[in-house]
Parts: sequence; C-alpha cells; structure tokens
Amino acid sequence: MNVEKELQKRFGFPAFRPGQREVIEDVLSGRDVFAMLPTGSGKSICYLLSGYLLGGLVVIVTPLISLMQDQVQRLRMNGEKGAAALNSFLTEEERERVIRGLGSFRFLYLSPEMLRSSRLQTALKNIGVSLFVVDEAHCISQWGYEFRPEYLKLAEARRNIGQPPCLALTATADDQVRKDIITHLELTDCRLHLYSVDRPNIALCVEHWLEPKEKERRLIELVKQLEGPGIVYFSSRKMTEQMAERLKLDGILQVGFYHGDMSTEDRMLIQNQFLGDQLDVVCATNAFGMGIDKPNIRFVIHYHYPTHINAYMQEIGRAGRDGEPSLAICLVGAGDDRIAQTLIDRELPDESVVKAVISRLAGGNDPYDIQKLAMDNGASETSAQFLCEKLSGMDNQSDAATLFERVMQDVHARRSVKTAELAKVRQWLATNRCRRKTVLQFYGQQPVDRNGPCCDRCGFQLKAYYKKIGDTRRLNQGIEPWQSRLERLLPRR
Ligand SMILES: [Zn+2]
Repeated sequence: MNVEKELQKRFGFPAFRPGQREVIEDVLSGRDVFAMLPTGSGKSICYLLSGYLLGGLVVIVTPLISLMQDQVQRLRMNGEKGAAALNSFLTEEERERVIRGLGSFRFLYLSPEMLRSSRLQTALKNIGVSLFVVDEAHCISQWGYEFRPEYLKLAEARRNIGQPPCLALTATADDQVRKDIITHLELTDCRLHLYSVDRPNIALCVEHWLEPKEKERRLIELVKQLEGPGIVYFSSRKMTEQMAERLKLDGILQVGFYHGDMSTEDRMLIQNQFLGDQLDVVCATNAFGMGIDKPNIRFVIHYHYPTHINAYMQEIGRAGRDGEPSLAICLVGAGDDRIAQTLIDRELPDESVVKAVISRLAGGNDPYDIQKLAMDNGASETSAQFLCEKLSGMDNQSDAATLFERVMQDVHARRSVKTAELAKVRQWLATNRCRRKTVLQFYGQQPVDRNGPCCDRCGFQLKAYYKKIGDTRRLNQGIEPWQSRLERLLPRR
C-alpha cells in the first residue's frame, strides 16, 4: 500500500511532515499509539489518512464543540461527506439521526460526555470501530480529575465499543502528563512518537513587577508597542473585562474579552472577530484559544501565570503558527503566587464541605444531588464536581468516617500533584538559566537548533517585536500602503 499516493490523492500534499508517516504506519499495524506532535504539524492527517486506509468508522474524541464543528466542516470542504459530529448542540432528533446512520459515516467526532451514552456505545460496538482517536489527549490529565471526569472513563468506553486500536494525540505532554494519558487510556503496549515541543520561533520572556499598578502600566505599554494580534491571559474572568475596558480607555480600540461566563453567542462573536483580524487583542481566561487556528498571532502575554507548565506551553503555543517570529511574555507581580495557590485550592473541596456532604448522605435515604449539596455548603463548582465524582464512585455501604477518610485521601493526593506542578512553574519563572532549556527539561528534551532570538536569559531585543513604523494596515481596511509594502518586500538590513 502506498501511503504517499493516498496522501496526495486525498489531501493533495506531495509529502508527509515529520512524524506523520511513522505514526500512520504504526496505526495501520494495529498498535496503540501515543503521538506528541508539535502544533501545526498536521496531527489530524495522522488519523484521517489512517481512517481512509483502514476503512470502517473512526471515532475521534475531542474536547470542544466548536472544534468538532470546524473539523467536520473542513472535511466536507475537502469532499468528505461521511463526517459527522455528535454533541450537545444537536437536538435529540438530530442526534438520533446520526446514531441511526452510523454505518454510513467514516469519521465521527464526539465529546467524552457523549460517549458515556450506553445506547451509543452499543451502536458503535455493533457497527465496529476501526480506530479510536483521542485528540488533545492532554485534556485527560488537565481536565479529567476535576472538570470533566468523563475523560478518565475513556478506557472503559473503548472497551465497551469493542476495544479498537487507540491513537492518542497531543502537542504538549510533559513526562507526568504522558504517564497520566497512558495509564488512563490503558495503553499498555503502545508505540511512542515524541517530537519536540520546542517552538523555536517563539521567544520567551518573564518580567517581574512589584507594584500591581506598575504591572498594569506595563501591560498597557506592551499591548501598545507590540506587533499584534495577541492574546492576554488572566486567571480571573472579571479582570478580562476590566482590562479590556482599561485598554480601550488608553486608545487601543480593537480589543475584546472572552471567558467562560459569557453566552455561547458572545464567545463565538469574539472568536470570529479575532480570527477575522477585526480584533488586535483579546483579554481572556484559559477558556480561549484551544482549537483557534489563527496563524498570525504575534504575542501571548500572561498577566497571571498558569498553575501547570503544560498549560503554559499550550497557551503560548497559539502564537506564531505561521513560523514567523513571535513572543511569549509572562508578567509576574507580587501577589501572583497567592492567586495561583488560590486557584488550586478552589479546585478541590475542603474538609468542612466533605464532612457536611457526607453527613447528609449518611443521614437520609433520599438520593441527594451531591454537587448541589456541596455548592450549598460553599464549594466551588469544580470542587463540587470532584466530590460528586469521588462519592458516586464509592460504595455507599461504608460508614461516614470511612468515606470521609477515603475522599480526603484523594483530595490530599490531588493537592500534592497540583502543588508539585505549580512548583515547576515557579522554578521556571525564577530560573537564571535559559528559559527554553529549562522548560524543555520538563519534557526530557533539548532545544532544537536555532538561529533566532531565544529568551530573556540568553539576551534578546524586545524592540524587535514592536510594531513596524508605517504599518497602518488596520486603518486602511486591508489595503497596504506602498511604503510598508515596499518595506516588506525589500526588508532593510
Ligand atoms: Zn534561552
């Protein structure tokens, strides 16, 4: 079988990008495969082409609804009519239609939550799935424990649909995340394909600011000076709105904000405006960015640092997909350590909540809504979900004291994992050594060869990322003035 010919025929590409062929060959041999391929390396080709060559139905588990719609759309534009998505956006009737017509599909995208349906599992088992793909597989580790417990049940779902071979794909998974994925997907004898997570065209920079006011001023200054478009990440939803307002007051007009509390329509609007170059800057929480395939993002600024190094790499990896020089700046302020710690604490229930919930459970026969009970006792939504998941997985015959002890054991275990992850981020922020080398060590990797600027520890010029003089593209609605066009075509030495 000539895989290259198939690549050309199906997608019009003359050759594979690094990694693709190796991954596809292992998938075709029927092995489970874990592949870490850098952003922009064409991860989807790995399962699409495998799907064509294997025949049958390929199931792709993917985290975001907007992502799967987009992927289905793209496949249809590529002439593939046998692609469908199953998600909560569909009406009952539409979902039913997809399930009834499963046999006519080649690629089925769905969320882990959808895959919990036993009716769907049975239907998939009857039809026979040729390949089980988990895209953005780091979500298992990043979200599975607290936010989306279904991610930890993918192995079970896979068994229920007849244990098809599995392909786990991600752009970033440090050693710990990789172990997590492999354990939870039960990939006991899988082939590993690990390519560098290094993005040589993204320069890394950290700035420490003692006074909150100074940090805020610095952000405004950077957003004004830096070549856009860019994303600024905050850990608080309220701050995305406040800072967007603040930036507007300062004359930066094409700015929007984005967070999980907004309506789907509002979020879609901001996302589309950003994709369409109508916005220069989006102030966002980490809800923004995954699956946004925008090639020309020039900077990613973290106003608050994430609590996990893998999340940091994911977020800055949204810059510079076109391969052009781009910048990742992390602004660290005096109170940020406390903010990061609070984020972790809020994701797990504290003792008093666990105690209160368990005592109510033990006291009555009514099936309580554990999550609601926890939230009524002051737990955050995430920590309530964690508690609900733990308790519903335990045998209810145990007495309250035993239950409490077991839940708290899990809470402590998760807390220490999270604290260790946070310590890595802090170690990276404080390092005197090359930031690229330091971060790649968490992945057991070395920097790839480079000739461009590296990081603030290796000496680089922030000015190189400032807006080019004479760049008035935005004012001219896409008509580039002759001066800048000339400058672009004949760059000054
Ligand atoms: Zn460096």
